[in-house]
Parts: sequence; C-alpha cells; structure tokens
Amino acid sequence: MTRRRRIYEGTGKVIFEGPEPGTLVQYFKDDTSHKARAGVIAGKGVLNNRISEHLMTRLGEMGVPTHFMRRLNMREQLVREVEIIPVQVVVRNLAAGSLAERFGLAEGTPLPRSIVEYYYKAPEMTPPLVTEEHITAFGWAPPHDMDEIVPMALRVNDFLSGLFHGIGLRLVDVRLEFGRLWENEQQRIVLADEISPDNCRLWDLKTNEKMDKDRFRQDLGRVEEAYQEVARRLGILPESGPGDLPGPDAIQ
Ligand code: ADP
Ligand code: MG
Repeated sequence: MTRRRRIYEGTGKVIFEGPEPGTLVQYFKDDTSHKARAGVIAGKGVLNNRISEHLMTRLGEMGVPTHFMRRLNMREQLVREVEIIPVQVVVRNLAAGSLAERFGLAEGTPLPRSIVEYYYKAPEMTPPLVTEEHITAFGWAPPHDMDEIVPMALRVNDFLSGLFHGIGLRLVDVRLEFGRLWENEQQRIVLADEISPDNCRLWDLKTNEKMDKDRFRQDLGRVEEAYQEVARRLGILPESGPGDLPGPDAIQ
C-alpha cells in the first residue's frame, strides 16, 4: 500500500494526489471555522461528500461541466485536477451575510434580481470583494474566462434554486469556484470545489429556519442536524447515519 501525497489542507477538506495523473482526491473533514473560531461539526464531511456528489452529478446531467468524477468512499471523492481560478463567485437571491451588512438590508430582503459578486481567494486573508476590473487587471482570469463563468454561475444558481425549492428549501446564496481544464490543447472552464451547506445559504421555505453553516457562524445550535436534514431531503442520508472512516491519513 502506498501513502498518498497530501497536496493541500484547507478548512473543510484535504486534497491528495489522485490515482492517475490529472486527478485529485478530496477528503471531506468535519472541521469548520468562522473568523478566529474553529469547530467540529460531527459527520459534516460524510454529508458534504454525498451532497456535493449529488449536486455536481445533477448539474453534470444538465450540461454544466464539473470536476466531479466519482465518490470513492464515505469521505472521499475523485475529481479532475483543474487550475483553480482564485476568485469565489457568489450568486445571491436574497440579502444575507455581508451583503445585508454592507447595504443595511434586513436578512431575507428579496433582491430585484440575482446579484453576482466576486471575492479574491488570497492566501491567509479573508477574501476581499473585488470587481471584474481587478480580476482582469491582476490577471486572475482573462475576460473570455469571465464570459464563460458568469452565465455558468447564473445557470448553476437557477438550477440549484429549483432543485432546493422542490425539497422545501430556499437557496439564499451560493459561493462557487471554477477552474481551467486542459483537453487536447483546448481549455474549458469547469465548476470545481464543492457545493454543500458550507457554501450555500439554505433556509426552510416555510419557517425560514437556517439549514447551513450560518448555524455554526451564529451559534444557533443543532448544526449537525441541519446538515443531516439537507441530506435527508435530498434523499441521500446514508442509512447508517453519518458513520465514519479512520481519519484524513488515508491510504490508497
Ligand atoms: P479552503 O480552506 O482554501 O477553502 P478547502 O478546505 O475547501 O480549502 O480545500 C479545497 C481546496 O482545493 C481549495 O483551495 C480549492 O480551491 C481547491 N480545489 C477544489 N477543487 C479543485 C480541483 N478540481 N483541482 C484543484 N484544486 C481544487
Ligand atoms: Mg473551501
């Protein structure tokens, strides 16, 4: 048995070299953090692995190119390695979080239309809000990449809004990452990273109860239950519950 090379460890995931060139393994952890506060959400990694697999697969069926290849086990999935564009693309449908703060809007205020925002993924700092000017001037992505990314992000938002609506959840906002994939000298933009309650705001349609990472950020309690409920409504809650694997020290 060979030990996999660990490439990167972030807050929510560990990235390992994949079994074939051009592939990576994403290991989903239970760890979380908000500002200086770190925490653990028991079973989150197992649930986010499943939730992201499910949503990326549905998006793929819709014709949205994604990095997802297949789930390997409870906590790991195989993805195509991409050149990550260091810009988080946030699509917002209702005011919440930093947008609500910035404009003094009550959380939940409907927006006249979906608003796309960009945040620069700089190492060691909270991603600052940037404009397309910064993105192109600093060379994070050329205009032709942005021309692909923006409609794709809106399409992902529309599709996910409908999908979640069908299970009684409102998609308040979603934070996406994209990457470049090279195939026979041709470059394609694909959806990467993950889609889960760590990077979506999801509110119950009837009660407006928060069912996402805001439960941790705002110390609302029943954090584990919220992630489980999202998986349950998607029809993908593992029967054994969010069981476990030894730890991120995975071997091939
Ligand atoms: P962070 O704390 O930086 O958000 P995560 O814990 O989310 O990190 O770990 C995932 C890391 O892997 C992120 O830096 C993300 O940009 C990167 N990543 C996600 N998907 C891919 C991919 N397909 N190829 C290369 N890197 C990826
Ligand atoms: Mg991340």
